[in-house]
Amino acid sequence: MYDMHIHSDFSIDTDILMEDMVKSALEKNGKTICFTDHVEFGIGPEKIDVVFRVEDYFKKFRQLRYSYAGKIEILAGAELGLQPGELDKYRDFAASAPFDHVIAAIHTVRNMDVYTELSRRYPAKEAIRMYYEDMLSCLEDYSDYDSLAHIDFIDRYFLPDNPAPPFESYRELVEPVLRVLIENGKALEVNTGGLRRLPYSHPKKEILQLYAQMGGELLTMASDAHKPADIYHAFRETEKMLKEMGFKYIFKYKERKKYPIHLI
Ligand SMILES: [Zn+2]
Ligand SMILES: [Zn+2]
Repeated sequence: MYDMHIHSDFSIDTDILMEDMVKSALEKNGKTICFTDHVEFGIGPEKIDVVFRVEDYFKKFRQLRYSYAGKIEILAGAELGLQPGELDKYRDFAASAPFDHVIAAIHTVRNMDVYTELSRRYPAKEAIRMYYEDMLSCLEDYSDYDSLAHIDFIDRYFLPDNPAPPFESYRELVEPVLRVLIENGKALEVNTGGLRRLPYSHPKKEILQLYAQMGGELLTMASDAHKPADIYHAFRETEKMLKEMGFKYIFKYKERKKYPIHLI
C-alpha cells in the first residue's frame, strides 16, 4: 500500500508525531507513506500564513528515514491550500525544499474556509460553483504540484438542510478541472478520508468515470490520515473498485517523479 497523503504534528490540525504515523504504517504492512503537512498562505480576513518550518520538517523526516531504512519507505511532501491571490508564495515554497510529492488542494474560497463557512453560508449549488471556479483558476495559473487532493470534498461539509446537488447539475464545472489535470500531466488523488463521513471516497464514482472517459489515468491513493489508525484506510476495497472501473495503475511520487504501481 502506498499512502501519498498523511499528516503529522507539523500540520496545525493534529498533534500526532511523525514517528507514531510511521509505526502504524509498519504495523499495517504498508510499503510507502508520504507526509504532506499543511501549508496555507493568506488565511482569513487577517491573511495569516500557516506554514511549517521546512528545516525542522526535513530534519525530523531524515532522522526517521534513516531509522526505518529497509523497513518502510518514508517520503516528504506538502499539501498546499491554494488561493488565487497567493500563488507566488506557493511557488516559492514548493521550490524551497527537496519534496517528493506536492499536493494542490482548495481549503479556502474567497476568504471563507470550505468546512464551516463556504458550505454553510451559501446555497449548496452556489458554494459548489465558487469552489470549482476557484479550483480551476488556481490550476490554470499554478503548476508546481503533482496531484490534486480530494476534488469533491466540499460535499462532506453540507448540512442536511442544504445538501449537495446531484453531480449532473454541476458536471460542467468539474470537467474543465479534470481537463487541466490531464493536459498538464497531474494526478487525481483518490482520498479515502471521504469514507469517514460519507458513503464514498473522493472523488465520487461519477467523477472517476468522467476522468476515465476523458483519458485520465494518473491516480494516487491517499488516506489523508491525521491519526495513526487512519493510515491506508479502506485502501484494499478502494483499489479493487478502481480496478473494476478499468484503471490499471496507481502512482507513487518520489523526488517529484511518478512511478506506476500495477493494481492487482
Ligand atoms: Zn486537504
Ligand atoms: Zn490533508
